[in-house]
Amino acid sequence: MVYADIVIDITLEKLDRTFQYAVPPEMVDSVRIGSEVVIPFGNGGRTLKGVVLGLSQEAKIDPKRIKEILSVETSDIPVESQLIELAGWIAEHFGSTMNQALKTVLPSKTKAKAKEKKIVSLAVSKADGEALLTDLLSKKRHSVARERLLSELLETEEIPWDVITGKLNIGSAIIRDLEKRGVVQVSSQRDFRNPLGDLTGTKKHITLNEEQMACVNQVRSDWAKGIHKTYLLYGVTGSGKTEVYMELIHDTLERGQEAIVLIPEIALTYQTVMRFYQHFGNQVAIMNSRLTPGERMDQLDRAKNGDCKIMIGPRSALFTPFPHLGLIIVDEEHESSYKSEQAPRYHAREVAVKRGELSHASVILGSATPSVESFELAHNGTYGLLEMKHRVAERELPKCEIVDLREEMRLGNRTMLSKRLQELIQDRLDRQEQTMLFLNRRGLMGFVSCRACGKSLKCPHCDVALSLHRDGRLHCHYCGYTEPKPRLCPHCGSKYIGGMKAGTEKVEETVHKLFPTARVLRMDADTTKGKEGHREILEKFSNREADILIGTQMIVKGHDFPYVTLMGIIAADLSLNSSDFRGSERTFQLITQAAGRAGRGEIPGNVVIQTYQPENYSIVTAKDQNYEAFYQQEISYRKLMSYPPEGHLLMILMTSEKLSHVTEEARILADYLKETLAQTLDKDTSLRNMTQVLGPEDARIAKIQDVYRKTIYLKDRDYEKLVSAKNLAADYVQTKQKYHDVYVWFDFDPM
Ligand code: ADP
Ligand code: ZN
Ligand code: ZN
Repeated sequence: MVYADIVIDITLEKLDRTFQYAVPPEMVDSVRIGSEVVIPFGNGGRTLKGVVLGLSQEAKIDPKRIKEILSVETSDIPVESQLIELAGWIAEHFGSTMNQALKTVLPSKTKAKAKEKKIVSLAVSKADGEALLTDLLSKKRHSVARERLLSELLETEEIPWDVITGKLNIGSAIIRDLEKRGVVQVSSQRDFRNPLGDLTGTKKHITLNEEQMACVNQVRSDWAKGIHKTYLLYGVTGSGKTEVYMELIHDTLERGQEAIVLIPEIALTYQTVMRFYQHFGNQVAIMNSRLTPGERMDQLDRAKNGDCKIMIGPRSALFTPFPHLGLIIVDEEHESSYKSEQAPRYHAREVAVKRGELSHASVILGSATPSVESFELAHNGTYGLLEMKHRVAERELPKCEIVDLREEMRLGNRTMLSKRLQELIQDRLDRQEQTMLFLNRRGLMGFVSCRACGKSLKCPHCDVALSLHRDGRLHCHYCGYTEPKPRLCPHCGSKYIGGMKAGTEKVEETVHKLFPTARVLRMDADTTKGKEGHREILEKFSNREADILIGTQMIVKGHDFPYVTLMGIIAADLSLNSSDFRGSERTFQLITQAAGRAGRGEIPGNVVIQTYQPENYSIVTAKDQNYEAFYQQEISYRKLMSYPPEGHLLMILMTSEKLSHVTEEARILADYLKETLAQTLDKDTSLRNMTQVLGPEDARIAKIQDVYRKTIYLKDRDYEKLVSAKNLAADYVQTKQKYHDVYVWFDFDPM
């Protein structure tokens, strides 16, 4: 017998209150997680609707006392059901508990109250109001404020309370007085907090070019045949992908459906939002991590009741409860920030494709540098491929050149800027054009080490080096621990300890030295604290209040500065020398994206790529902006190594405050998995098909906040086999683990 856990009230707070019902045999195929079912409830023969949160073979109480589901809804499924089904998939596919998945997918309601806005309006007819006004004016002792309010209301009919007491400067006593006389009425309206503020703007009229039209038409013709699938929109930087998105969103709204646009948080800039806002006005809502819980709730309510039709935001926007979702756009689909860093460690791109499937919505993955995963799927025909090979308006791709930093050293240049880059910067300064200098690694922040013994100063709670901040103290980025910078090395007593300056700071110093009159802005984690930090810097640069913008990743995403004609990539190989198998991919993407920022206006641009490895394929292909060449090399490497998408990885992370506990449990679990997976092999026969189990070993960061971390890696070509292995491990942990202070986390294809 199959049993279903059913919840009656789908709010996050009540999810724990599930009731078990039996699934009659004839419904076994149609009752799934997320299904809406009708059940008998209580003893009075009452029936209720509920939603299935889980399925199992075991009865939690005496099976004789378990009632049967009466019927299952198969048409007109509410959006919450879809989201719950999605949560079920996320839990299974990315290895989390159903509860964690539900928390991700469903909004919490308790944290914020709906905000009300008071509106004052005329309670009498216009004629009566005018008569009253004349009457008041004729009286000897009249109140100017009262008359003013009345005449304002005669003109506009209703005015928000706040505007009257604020802008009009009329006291609330006057409003109350007129209310008592029955002249005005005060009502409450739901006030939807609008995090966009009051945007105004006019729509730029753009006619799509041939390539753009071809992409739009390909999707349209599928729609005409009733096909909703996933496409990869592979378009070079500046090819006008956003216009394609907007055109397709337009069609979607016309059909009475809604659209979700996912954008990496870092690229969710004022500029991007404005473009959508100018096109679609207040049908657009945004979602991001800076919203207050109240703002967030309002956005979701607006989406649910149809007040907004387009949700723009990072990962979490994917779970917007649109009832008739027709289109999901994932812009910059290659971005690693689409992968969640908390359980469930889902990849938003994959969840988008799944949600599209469940909602019969089309999905467009857009990028100038597609992830190897998506390109592979487009290549083999699983996804539709939409291509745009040219920049709009025949604008040329910038001219890229590589500078060999080893050669630079040999010539005695010890600054961070090569002679060639210096030359071009000077040229741009002379021509009053702008330059961007890009350092392709986040958090290259000054680690402190001893020049005598070479050891670094570590956080006492984490296995990471401390870094020196501008407040002169050492900080840990993982736990927030800080201490004053010691005068002497704690390892050897030498006084030669020093911090390496954050990379961007060092570049800034060099620029100041070489170009003392240039106006320079710097954008990194240090200079963008606070809600508006980002925007201020970008706006200044956009208004040409600076000649040079120095920054990390943040400066290369989604900005469109027409006067930038030079992009300098300071150390292209920084992202290459990591142990991560995605190093080359990331390097290619960062260089191409950075190069794409140059020459977006009328004037063509130059790009200088400084590197110690000028012959590396990710750098050479990025210089030529040749994605296909890069892809061919990369995919053969992935094939050779069985890395995604040619194979898959499951990381099992085990943590505990007790080192001995986590060490023992990790070893036992690894042995158990090796043994059990080997047993299933008999049926499978071939040794090559066996899931590999590697480890346990220390996690890359072996300790964080006094919690020890061990990892076990599982490798297999078949994702589904890793899912089974994960279920095996999860069952084992739940039933047989000895120490209850050891926690276990799963991460598929970790990034
Ligand atoms: P991408 O996202 O592919 O890098 P964008 O969509 O940001 O490119 O477009 C780059 C610039 O070109 C934008 O300023 C946009 O307004 C403009 N643009 C896009 N399509 C057209 C078109 N068909 N005609 C004229 N300008 C266009
Ligand atoms: Zn020392
Ligand atoms: Zn720490």
